[in-house]
Amino acid sequence: CGIVGYVGDDGVLEVLMDGLSGLEYRGYDSAGIAMAESSISVHKRQGDISALEEALPDGSVEATAGIGHTRWSTHGPPSDANAHPHTDESGRVAVVHNGIIENYQQLRDDLEAAGHSFDSDTDTEVVPHLIAAARDDGADRESAFRRAIGRLEGSYAIAVVFSGSETVYAARNESPLVLGVGDDGHYLASDVPAFIEYTDRIIYLDDGEFARIDESTVVVTDTDGTVVDTSIETVEWDA
Ligand code: GLU
Repeated sequence: CGIVGYVGDDGVLEVLMDGLSGLEYRGYDSAGIAMAESSISVHKRQGDISALEEALPDGSVEATAGIGHTRWSTHGPPSDANAHPHTDESGRVAVVHNGIIENYQQLRDDLEAAGHSFDSDTDTEVVPHLIAAARDDGADRESAFRRAIGRLEGSYAIAVVFSGSETVYAARNESPLVLGVGDDGHYLASDVPAFIEYTDRIIYLDDGEFARIDESTVVVTDTDGTVVDTSIETVEWDA
């Protein structure tokens, strides 16, 4: 299983698909991607990456920000509906997640009581609904993301895109997540092989940290929102 993310002008669709291929060694039963422009397009399939490839749009992609996922099911069987990314019902936000959200049932019960309807059996789907609920309360994108993450108990590497935004937000707790600094944008992934063909300059995230990447900047913050001083390491990797 694995997650990838990219913001930049090097062809988001190709970078995401290369990233998912680079994470195949981790094992998976489904794969999917989301790309954000004024709206978000989601493409996902049970099965291997070639099944996802058949579901991809023809023609050019204008988006510069996207996320991708290979799923190793823990909550809900492998299916197209349970494949990530997951969205809220308005389609404003798309989420990929590796790990297990231990308190998802309570969160889901609360969200359903508040009128949210769910499309999957996954623990993950509470996350886009929590973010959408915070947005409805007036939170800006980053605050809504942080507020949603603050509700979670369990293990996660999570990446999120919003409609109308060219930023990818991410967070980790007890699940791996690394950032890549490239000449044509910024990357994130569960592990270095996802983007080593694009860059060997890496920032390692720690548990409890948040990241925000766009085309020209990478910002890492702690749970309180304080900016963390990061160091960029150059890795050697036989691709
Ligand atoms: N718990 C999530 C699910 O079952 C994520 C699994 C994973 O790490 O791929 O969909």
